[in-house]
Amino acid sequence: MKLQKNKIRNIGLVAHIDAGKTTTTERILYYTGRTHRMGDVDDGTTITDWMIQEKERGITITSAATYCKWKDCNINIIDTPGHIDFTIEVERSLRVLDGCIIIFDAVNGVEAQSETVWRQSDKYKVSRIIFVNKMDRPNADFFDTVKQVEKRLSAIPLVIQLPYFEAGKFLGVIDLIDKKLYLWETEDKNNREYKIMNIPDTYEKTVREYREKILELLSEFDDNFMQKYVHSQDITANDIKSVIRKATILSKYFPVFCGSAFKNKGIQLLLDGIVDYLPSPVDLPPVEGKNPNTLKSEIRFSEDEEPLSALAFKIQTDSFVNKLTYIRIYSGKIAIGNSVYNSCKQKFERISRILRMHANNREEIKEAFAGDIVGIIGFRNTSTGDTLCDRKYPIILESINYPEPVLWIAIEPKTTQDQEKLSLALRKMTEEDPTFKVSYNEETNQTIISGMGELHLDIIVDRIKREFGVMINTSKPQVAYRETIKTKVIEEGRYIKQTGGKGQYGHVWLEIEPFNDGFKFINKIKGGIIPKDYIPAIEQGIKESMLSGPLNGFPLVNIQVSLIDGSYHEVDSSDIAYKLASSIALRNGVKKADPVLLEPFMKIQTITPEEFLGDVLGDLNKRRCKIEEMNPKNNLYYITGMVPLSEMFGYATVLRSLTQGRGTYIMEPSHYEEVPKEIMEEILAIKTK
Ligand code: GDP
Repeated sequence: MKLQKNKIRNIGLVAHIDAGKTTTTERILYYTGRTHRMGDVDDGTTITDWMIQEKERGITITSAATYCKWKDCNINIIDTPGHIDFTIEVERSLRVLDGCIIIFDAVNGVEAQSETVWRQSDKYKVSRIIFVNKMDRPNADFFDTVKQVEKRLSAIPLVIQLPYFEAGKFLGVIDLIDKKLYLWETEDKNNREYKIMNIPDTYEKTVREYREKILELLSEFDDNFMQKYVHSQDITANDIKSVIRKATILSKYFPVFCGSAFKNKGIQLLLDGIVDYLPSPVDLPPVEGKNPNTLKSEIRFSEDEEPLSALAFKIQTDSFVNKLTYIRIYSGKIAIGNSVYNSCKQKFERISRILRMHANNREEIKEAFAGDIVGIIGFRNTSTGDTLCDRKYPIILESINYPEPVLWIAIEPKTTQDQEKLSLALRKMTEEDPTFKVSYNEETNQTIISGMGELHLDIIVDRIKREFGVMINTSKPQVAYRETIKTKVIEEGRYIKQTGGKGQYGHVWLEIEPFNDGFKFINKIKGGIIPKDYIPAIEQGIKESMLSGPLNGFPLVNIQVSLIDGSYHEVDSSDIAYKLASSIALRNGVKKADPVLLEPFMKIQTITPEEFLGDVLGDLNKRRCKIEEMNPKNNLYYITGMVPLSEMFGYATVLRSLTQGRGTYIMEPSHYEEVPKEIMEEILAIKTK
């Protein structure tokens, strides 16, 4: 079955933990799982039926992409993880989706994590609609949440619905475009059917005011609309919707919906919102990538006739089918039996089966087309982030920049027989998760695994034990330090051996200086003092030496190296001699360039009841936390700051005991900073013992 492209929505739901992402997703799958639209009074389905189905659904939404249908639209819901240790997984899913629903808890408003996700959505230009959930809670404040969107996210919310209350109970949603009240007669969760009513008199004034705001904002955005508006011409609901759609796709405005997922209120209208306002693949600009042969940028339109380009965004190993690779097809088409080219691994892959994952079953399909998201069985060498394409028209789609791991542990199998099983487990997991790295320390004979935080590594260790059945010993988690330099030096490197027979001749002068963005190599050689052919070997020698810094063997970062001079010998010069010469120059150079240690800083938000504020702050100060913001709200204090990861071990336990179990926190990698001198000396003293 070929889907009509403008009827496809690739979306995600994103929320701060506990804002109601799971509940909303479940409800969406519930309502879309039915052939009749909910709320049809003559539907006749009994409550018991719903409850059984709901239970079944509850456990089936772990798929990386779930397909469902609302009205005539085909919706792929891409799973986005909730915990902040997996921010990068959020980025990975944002990369492949076209629009998303951002869910806020109407009591807590815009929380720290939502700000992070909002910034990420900006980066990937993902169109958004907002769902203010939990309107049934006693302190729910719709208008305050909207205000926070404006203030904390610097975005323009477009309020298109208002919550409707009767005697303090949240019973309905007012649609400002159709000027109707969608009313659920009772607050009860099992009352899923709404009636469409006229707007009650008590709400008329507010409705007029907010509707006016919509019209004004839309006039600012669209000239034609403004003409109609100022000339008081008839403006239809469809006129309004089509301009909102345009503005939403361009992320100018963010339509705001409200409801209560838990109480089954407002979900059907939210689904309408996905169809009405979020983009289809053809509404978006063509995808861009690099041709690996010419290194030039190329684009692909979302059309079946274009050459294939697809991105593998998630790999799941599962008990039925071994390895399932989820791909987003940007252009072209695929069919069972096709061989496609993995341009990142330079290998062909065969498509044995194509699956569309529904909430409770998987459907085998024969082909899939541009714009769609499907699961593939049969890929052997593809990892997360790889591009699949047509060999004749190779392309590498822009892949995600993953942050460097900040924490590592050493692991070893309890028995030597388990070594092979362990290697297999680690290989599988690195294919699935690009933020998880494995290396081997030759000095200590240990396998080192590193990741984005304690929770991330805990989950990996747990999977090794349970899923792969390998018993392992683990070390305590260690911070992944880096080294860099603070001053500029010029250093010579010579590797010259000319004692009879063919000798070795490599000679370079390097200028080594601080740099703010990773590593950069510049070749400033003029007039062929060193022939061009040797330059890659010189760069290679430098890069290899950067793996281990002078202070304590931590990787060197943020350094720019320019090759400024050197010499060359007709007969004796070779790649290897230049590689060694540049590596000598780099190693000696950085020692003189004022090397320092860098440590990972985490962005942290701690939430504590007011009575424990003093203790919690005191403890954060001891941990060298730089407090940035403190906001009181509903007897809770929200503290945001930056803290070195090395100070945060065991924080969960301490916070629990300081707050009688009531404090919570979230933390994510932010950046690297220089370690203060005294602390650096401590670290180096321990490491060199
Ligand atoms: P997630 O962490 O974002 O996936 O949030 P969940 O969907 O698991 O919801 C977290 C908690 O909030 C659960 O106890 C839900 O029952 C509850 N919850 C979700 N939506 C609502 C809502 O609309 N109203 C109320 N009162 N509670 C809700």
